Amino acid sequence: MLRAAARSQLWDVMVIGGGATGLGCALDAALRGYSTILVEAYDFGSGTSSRSTKIIHGGIRYLRQLQLGFVREGLKERELLFQIAPHLVRTRQFIIPFYSRCDAAAFTMGVALYKRLAGRGGRGDYHVLSAGETARALPSLRTERLKGGIAYQDGQFDDARYLIALAQSAARAGATLLNYCPVVDLLRGDRGGCQEPIRGARVLDVESNQALELRAKVVVNAAGPFADGIRAYAGANNQLLTVSRGAHVVFDSAALQSESALVIPRTVDGRVMFLLPWRDKVIAGTTDHRTAHAEPNIAAERAEVREIISTVRTYVQDVGALDAPCSSFAGLRPLIAHQGGNTARLSRDFSVVQEFSTLLTVVGGKWTTYRKMAEAAIDRAATIGGLPPVESSTTETALYGASGRNTEPRFEGYGSAEEAVRTLEKEQLEYSEPLVLGRPESVGQVVYGIRFEMARRIEDVFARRLRVLPLDVTAAAAAVPKISAILGRELGKTNGTLSLDEVHARALCAATASTLES
Ligand code: FAD
Repeated sequence: MLRAAARSQLWDVMVIGGGATGLGCALDAALRGYSTILVEAYDFGSGTSSRSTKIIHGGIRYLRQLQLGFVREGLKERELLFQIAPHLVRTRQFIIPFYSRCDAAAFTMGVALYKRLAGRGGRGDYHVLSAGETARALPSLRTERLKGGIAYQDGQFDDARYLIALAQSAARAGATLLNYCPVVDLLRGDRGGCQEPIRGARVLDVESNQALELRAKVVVNAAGPFADGIRAYAGANNQLLTVSRGAHVVFDSAALQSESALVIPRTVDGRVMFLLPWRDKVIAGTTDHRTAHAEPNIAAERAEVREIISTVRTYVQDVGALDAPCSSFAGLRPLIAHQGGNTARLSRDFSVVQEFSTLLTVVGGKWTTYRKMAEAAIDRAATIGGLPPVESSTTETALYGASGRNTEPRFEGYGSAEEAVRTLEKEQLEYSEPLVLGRPESVGQVVYGIRFEMARRIEDVFARRLRVLPLDVTAAAAAVPKISAILGRELGKTNGTLSLDEVHARALCAATASTLES
């Protein structure tokens, strides 16, 4: 029904891609009163936006590259996100250990500049810790030659739950959101010639296997690492993007034993690595490993996992947790193309590129700056689409769920939706039971994700609505049959569709588990 209605309308704005950038654009456009449709090839956030390090920051590491404007902008956005999404973004203390006076001076200058760039009222207080204080704050840190540490504050969030809040907010503002609807071609104006403006897209509704033609005054290409593929449908044959990849390994919390995050300032190849608490686990990882091809659903590679573990081991005493990682994940970073091989040095700035009159491609940036990117893209869309000028209101619009605070780690990022889940859990005895023994997530959370958060497949539930896959791959594999049964009941799926979905989910778990084998 929804899909049929979508076809018959001329939309003001069509957004391609349901990651942070695309959902940010859909929310911004809908809040301005523009009729808006967003199409996502898979599930919302199935790309990079659910596979990040989960830090809301200016990016202390970019200071080394003197990208001061970029850092300042990120810090400004960080403060805004604390205001509009208090249920999703929290303050986290980060500690950079140092082993020489020279490093102490350099890191102190760095965090002082970071605080300064945050401006008056911006968070980021820092202090220098003695070796003893550093060891007490990070009990698992190796202390040989340790001289001290610098503690500073930054933001942390749950990326996939943030995306769900964006999707809920965009839908409430009037946007139509379709997942599992990949764009397979772009449509041109009436005469169809290659000089004609882009007037929409042909999408495939994967569930019904039907093609839909969606028409729009402006098309915003927010397909992240896949944005060049979308441009190619319009005939562009140059590359706007360079894609780099990054991986993370997830450990039991015993690996860190702290509420503070550890910053490893220099890996052997000169990158920054973070070891930070996340829910009941600890994530270790880094980005910008090397350039990569844009492929959907990438997994970490065994070599990446081994490299991360070995780097962590040089800083952290082995407590057994490092020998038994719980999960891993990897993501692709869309960077603005630039000559030169080292992606760690490429600009993180974003661009909004207008081509073929009405196709806007928005690329680059980072999670922290999604709101700013969306505002810039929709400002431009309004001009080229001849839409009534309306200012963006995303700096003052609280995201869905912002009025509630969460009482248990399993509800991190739910905000006021926690109450709705708790009510649902009382509906049936089964709903209050754990999804998997030994994990806190409930069957009710699965039902809620399907009924109210547009989860369509097992992966959507265990990877992004409940986060079990990135937290604990063994638990995710054990949850497959139960999630499948609930999906069958809730969505009336056939046995054939369900077993295909189970095969896919099990393969995903097996691929993730295989990256952890030593
Ligand atoms: P994506 O999230 O990749 O979304 C693009 C979407 O487009 C995908 O969902 C995809 O399925 C969809 N799509 C593709 N083709 C089609 C099609 N044909 N039709 C319809 N849809 C399509 N930033 C931070 O601020 N903090 C961090 O801690 C941080 N950590 C990071 C860690 C790693 C490993 C990486 C790689 C990046 C990190 N970033 C971080 C950067 C940040 O995650 C990205 O900049 C951001 O998520 C990009 O969002 P996006 O929406 O542009 O892309």
